[in-house]
Parts: sequence; C-alpha cells; structure tokens
Amino acid sequence: MMYVDYIFLNEGRFGHHTKTMVLSRSTPLEDYPMCEIVTFKNLSNNKEPKPEILLRPVASYRDPFRKGDNTMALCELEDESEKAVECNMRRPCKEILESVEDRELWFGLEQEYFLEDNRGDLAGWLANLRHLKFKDFYGGVGLTPTAAIEREIAEVHSRACFYAGIKFAGLNREDAPGQWEYQIGPCVGLAAADQLVLSRVLLDRVAEMYGFSVNYHPRPVNHCLPTSGLHINFSTKDMRSDGGIKYINEAMDRIASVDQTQLMECYDIRYGQENKERLTGDYYTPDASNFRAAVADKFASLRVPLLVAKKGCGRFEERRPASNCDIYTALAAFTKAALFGENY
Ligand code: ADP
Ligand code: MN
Ligand code: MN
Ligand code: MN
Ligand code: MN
Repeated sequence: MMYVDYIFLNEGRFGHHTKTMVLSRSTPLEDYPMCEIVTFKNLSNNKEPKPEILLRPVASYRDPFRKGDNTMALCELEDESEKAVECNMRRPCKEILESVEDRELWFGLEQEYFLEDNRGDLAGWLANLRHLKFKDFYGGVGLTPTAAIEREIAEVHSRACFYAGIKFAGLNREDAPGQWEYQIGPCVGLAAADQLVLSRVLLDRVAEMYGFSVNYHPRPVNHCLPTSGLHINFSTKDMRSDGGIKYINEAMDRIASVDQTQLMECYDIRYGQENKERLTGDYYTPDASNFRAAVADKFASLRVPLLVAKKGCGRFEERRPASNCDIYTALAAFTKAALFGENY
C-alpha cells in the first residue's frame, strides 16, 4: 500500500488543502479520482455550487515526509461530468501555455513570505521592531531571536522541495524580521505553477513541524513596513538567444499596452484589493498607479536585470504579483499580456 496526499485549491485559487488516502500499490493514480466536499464560490454568482466535486490527480511527486513509494498528487477540480469547475484556474492556464509551447516559455518564480510563531506574531518581529532598521534584514544573518529556527525552516523546506522533484533555485532572508524568500525555476510552462503550489504545501508542512505557520499576505503588517510579492521571471527561446533583448523589449511594450487594472486583478487573490496596499513604491515595490519598465531598477513594474542588459539577452521580471496570488491566474494573464498584448 501507499499513502497519497491529494492536494487541492479551495475556491480553485488559494488556500491549498490536502486529504490523504491509503491505496493499494497497484492502483494507477490517474485512474483514481476522489470525490470530496470542497467549499468554493461560483465566481460569477458568488453562490456555493453543489458541494461534492471530483479531485483529479494531474501531477504527482515523491512525498518527502513519508518517503518510499508514497506520493503527493496535485489535483484539478471537476464536476460530475468530468468538466473543470469554473474556479479550476489550472485548466485555462494549461490551455494558454500549451498553445505557445513552441516558443519554449520559461518561468522563474520568487515566493516571499512571513513566518508566524505559535502566538500569531510574526517571527522575531516584536524584539526587533524597537531598534533595527528594516533595510538591515535583506540577506541578513542572525538579527532575530528566532533566526536559527527560521533558517532551519527555510533550509529543510529546500530539501523537501528537492526530494519531491521541484526545481528549487535558491533562498534568502528578505527585508523584515520573519520574512524569507525562495525561488523556483526556471521551469518550462505549466510545471512552474504546479511546482510553486506544491512548494507552498511543503513550506506549510515544514513550518508546522517547528510550531510556525506561513503568512502569505502581501501586506501582513498594517502600515508602512516591508511587504511580500511573487516576482515572475520570464523568457522565451528568442529572448534567451543572441540579441534577445529586442524580444524582451517587445514583450514589455505589449504588457504596457494592456489594461493595467485588469491585469493587476489577476495578480492578487483578492482581485487587486490586497495588493494595492502593498504596491506603494516603498521597500522595492513598484507603485501600483505608475507603470514603468526599466533596467536594473527594483522599483519598476517590469525589470530587466543588469546582467541581462549587459549580455543583450536572457529574461525580464514582472514585480507586481502578490505573494498570495493564484499562480495559474497570474501566469495566464501575464502570458497573454506578454505574448499577445491582450488582457485575460
Ligand atoms: P532577483 O534578482 O529578482 O531577486 P532571484 O535570483 O531571486 O532574482 O530569482 C530569479 C529567478 O529567475 C529564479 O527563479 C531563476 O530560476 C529564474 N530565471 C533565471 N533565468 C531565467 C530565464 N532565462 N527565464 C526565466 N526565469 C529565469
Ligand atoms: Mn529575489
Ligand atoms: Mn525579494
Ligand atoms: Mn521584497
Ligand atoms: Mn525579483
């Protein structure tokens, strides 16, 4: 027998959940959808639809906690006729990304987050608020009474990701006490989003083991202090080839041409409301009301890293998505804007 953790997104968007089943080892996972009661709102009329829906495994990973043959299975939500439910945002994202597969899209995702202790306080926060400047924290060592345990969570999380087969790319302490970042990628197409979802589940699980929880809110502290984002790094085959900066500039021009309010709604689980509090132009955030593309500028909406500009090819970065965005909605909207100059 084997354990299978079925991973599903409530509201089809954020708030990942798992339910475990013990299956006979000969069961092919694809043939083993599970029915479950999932609470989510019908996006168009805000009513709760029929509660029982199908969890369809669409990607499976090695379970870093149980090891062996045990599995974690990312699921899509389907109705009784096996159609994707309206709030299953993976399905339309998959369709868009598959339609441009020949352009060889790569995504690199930077997930910022805060750790909270068992009292619900941000880790190391109160002790530091009094006397440290927030700019001291980026890449910092030590600095908080909980630094060692915070770092152990970040490190153990990276190991869990590697074990599961996630392309974990790095980690760093971020701008505030208790705040960290890790990166996934570069991954080809939809795999980036799937791996990000799994990496969030693994982060929550690792944090649990240490008596901490993860706060993904883009502005967890209600005043002018550091915030959390989810930068999307992006390239196509053309952008990575000699002279690719031309294609980078064209894609950034196409993003500039779409309705920015609509685009921002796709970058935020609360349709733009929470992220507005974050995008103030402080602490390396772009200003929500002032779209800008620039080289080596961490206050721009779109940034071409310095080394990319020097080399003349590579990638660019969309800095506006919120840390708690639905990654399928964000990548679908970003891709439509960057490749077609269209809103999602
Ligand atoms: P930043 O300088 O913005 O903090 P990071 O080093 O935190 O950048 O993250 C950069 C991300 O970009 C990583 O996830 C990395 O895998 C990804 N990346 C690197 N090269 C490419 C590329 N050509 N296309 C897409 N993503 C890339
Ligand atoms: Mn980064
Ligand atoms: Mn960062
Ligand atoms: Mn940051
Ligand atoms: Mn970045």
